[in-house]
Amino acid sequence: MHEYSLAHALLEGLTEHLGRHPVQGRVKAVHIRKGELLILSEEALAEAWRILTEGTPVAGSELRIEKVPVQIRCPACGYEGPARYVSDEGWHFTVPVLACPRCGGRTEVVAGRDLAIVGLTVDEGGPPGGEGAPPVPPG
Ligand SMILES: [Zn+2]
Repeated sequence: MHEYSLAHALLEGLTEHLGRHPVQGRVKAVHIRKGELLILSEEALAEAWRILTEGTPVAGSELRIEKVPVQIRCPACGYEGPARYVSDEGWHFTVPVLACPRCGGRTEVVAGRDLAIVGLTVDEGGPPGGEGAPPVPPG
């Protein structure tokens, strides 16, 4: 499963980071950036994360996914910036076009293809193991 190996890579990176920069308290959320060109199921990723983090110091943490747009660079004219998007009323999604919006040349993708950890939310306050969750409204 694609998402499982991505979650595994994220956990390895996070474990390494926490080894060098330990945090006080419980990691509540892990903020990640997902490039638009990376196709994955966020649900499957969250599920893989839950399974893989069991028994680790980040067990129970939640993945917060932020989508980042595709950035391209054109070697021919030097354009660097967002890709142009093609959207059509008949389509259910927009597709980034990887041709240079300035000269039409072939471009390199400089961002938008991968998954990266950008931050952590650490619960430093609450009592260890305490239940601080707000009541869930019915429905
Ligand atoms: Zn160009």
